[in-house]
Amino acid sequence: MIDLDAERRRTPGCTNQVFLDSAGSSLPTTETTEAVISHLRREAEVGGYRAAEERAEDLAALPASLAALLGCEAGEIALTDSATRAWTQLVGSLRLGPGDRVLICGNEYASNAIALLQRARLDGCSVEAVPSRPGGQVDLDALAGMLDEKVRLVSLVQVPTGSGQVAPVAAAARLAREAGALVLLDACQSVGQLAVDVRALGVDALTATGRKWLRGPRGTGFLYVRRELLAGLEPRGADLRAGTWTAPDDYELRADAGRFEQWEADLAGRLGLKVAVEHLLALGPATVEAAVRANATALRDGLATLPRVTVHDLGPDLSGIVTFTLDGTTPEEVKARLREAGVTVSVSTVSSTLLDLTERGLDAVVRASPHYFVSPADLERAVAAVAAL
Ligand SMILES: *Cc1c(COP(=O)(O)O)cnc(C)c1O
Repeated sequence: MIDLDAERRRTPGCTNQVFLDSAGSSLPTTETTEAVISHLRREAEVGGYRAAEERAEDLAALPASLAALLGCEAGEIALTDSATRAWTQLVGSLRLGPGDRVLICGNEYASNAIALLQRARLDGCSVEAVPSRPGGQVDLDALAGMLDEKVRLVSLVQVPTGSGQVAPVAAAARLAREAGALVLLDACQSVGQLAVDVRALGVDALTATGRKWLRGPRGTGFLYVRRELLAGLEPRGADLRAGTWTAPDDYELRADAGRFEQWEADLAGRLGLKVAVEHLLALGPATVEAAVRANATALRDGLATLPRVTVHDLGPDLSGIVTFTLDGTTPEEVKARLREAGVTVSVSTVSSTLLDLTERGLDAVVRASPHYFVSPADLERAVAAVAAL
């Protein structure tokens, strides 16, 4: 059980508003904010290098904390400045040429799709979308039918940015790996709200961000890569963190996932992320998942009773993302008017998930994403505020 009062006390941002945007950029705990600010202060006192030396142990421990969260080894984690950077670093390390096929699903995120289409444009591989079932989930039979030895990469998104659905990752990953394809999972909207275990899911690589459900600082993200794959992957833009200049005409990449990292980084942000991840580990990812799912279900049920509201989350397995529209009012207007009423939500548009929203005939939806620190009273206030529109 989560001690809701204690969690709310250490989350000052949740007291003066109903905060329903953890899928966008969540609220940190006081301890996380303090870790960031105190490091910035120390950098100002002694310079960034000495400040980093003083915190070397904590900085080195962040990959181990993330590994504990994901069920992998510290050497399989690369720290980045965003989920997108992690994703493009991994995809950029794959050789994809004419004849090579890449599969994406209907819930693909725009930045990933753009990066892949750019590879298609520059390098001549093909990018194909696997059809979805009526609820928006990937059609596993269609995926099985599309897989062949030319498919090099299958890109899966566990929880999309603009819908509550949870993708059947383990089943899709099994099909893809049996066909010899690499499986890359975008877990940006799932890590921190759902318990995620890379071995149980059977994915080769995974990306996520700090600022969303992990409640970490902005400008932080990470990449998991299965150890057996590392030696065969050549990251673009490798620097002296990723490798060593060993001879006038040679260099050697790090053996671990650090080959995907860059030397310069926001170390204050990383120290904050470490505090956030350790707090999640202390609460227990499964406990957090249960609390988030319960909050989202209560919110969906409350919204569904309102006459002009349509809840848009479909499928057998729903996460902490609740999406809806209000007849006669645009999602942007709903967001603005809810803000006046002290309720923070965001809007997810077709430009973020082109395939899924187009297929469902939607341009945009209001997205409400209640984390575990949202109280039952908050949820009632949110539903009442929507009702008052
Ligand atoms: C937010 C998001 C991303 C991108 O994360 P960044 O840290 O902004 O790069 C990727 N995929 C999904 C599904 C997202 O919601």
